Amino acid sequence: MAWFKKARKPIAAPEKASRVPEGLWIKCPDCAAIIYTRDLVKTLSVCPKCSHHFRLTARERLLSLFDGEHWVEHDTDLRSNDPLRFTDTKPYRDRLAASQKATGLADAILVGVGRIEGLETVVAAMEYAFIGGSMGIVMGEKIVRAVETALSRRLPLIIVSCSGGARMMEGALSLMQMAKISAGLARLDRARLPYLSVLTDPTTGGVTASFAMLGDLNIAEPKALIGFAGPRVIEQTIRQKLPEGFQRSEFLVEHGMLDLVVDRRDMKATIARALRFMRAEAVPTGEAVPASEAMAAAASGPSR
Ligand SMILES: [Zn+2]
Repeated sequence: MAWFKKARKPIAAPEKASRVPEGLWIKCPDCAAIIYTRDLVKTLSVCPKCSHHFRLTARERLLSLFDGEHWVEHDTDLRSNDPLRFTDTKPYRDRLAASQKATGLADAILVGVGRIEGLETVVAAMEYAFIGGSMGIVMGEKIVRAVETALSRRLPLIIVSCSGGARMMEGALSLMQMAKISAGLARLDRARLPYLSVLTDPTTGGVTASFAMLGDLNIAEPKALIGFAGPRVIEQTIRQKLPEGFQRSEFLVEHGMLDLVVDRRDMKATIARALRFMRAEAVPTGEAVPASEAMAAAASGPSR
């Protein structure tokens, strides 16, 4: 114990104005190339030197997929009501407010209906900047509503995952979303509507363990981390060194966990090709089935 207490104040560094405007250049974490940010927009945030895929925001993702960069957004104001009144290092309520302010979104997912090479499609894209793209009650509800939109309008569904898994601040309620969404997707399957899962870096935890792996096609971006538990946890559990590239897209395709690894610049064309192929068997365009009929068909369909 000191006899004299002196309040220490850190020496404030004089604010020096940088001559380079903030965010004009970005360094590639893979090949260390310095890239002009505007060039990156043209390549859909893929490094022109080494094809490193930078993370996209949910909005950028929809921009990269929909024709004319146009879509109709659904359920924009669904937000979590903090059912457990959860507090860790800070209250969940505050965390939500901070993320909402930073991203301009109400929760970690955006749902839009638009056209992909002319094919009307429902796309749900996750926002990693919103509490790690975590899956809570809002994400579950929004995806199920997206499924219902797809069912009633006979549209294909695409979910672009970018998530750390279930949202622990909503405890078991967030885990229940795995079952809720999977049940929704089963109805889509019975109605013979395509569901494509696009997995981006990272797709982990409860998201991988449920709907991200349930696509009629599971398509990943190159070198994306995809898994349930993290590599460190697995290493400690099985006490073995994991092989090179473990839990990355290319490794998972080789081992039969995924169908395709597709460069982001080819993603839209690949999705459109797959949808055209899958819809060949579906109801011809222009002959939309009314919602009630689709629901009835889904309810009476064979269970699997
Ligand atoms: Zn690079």
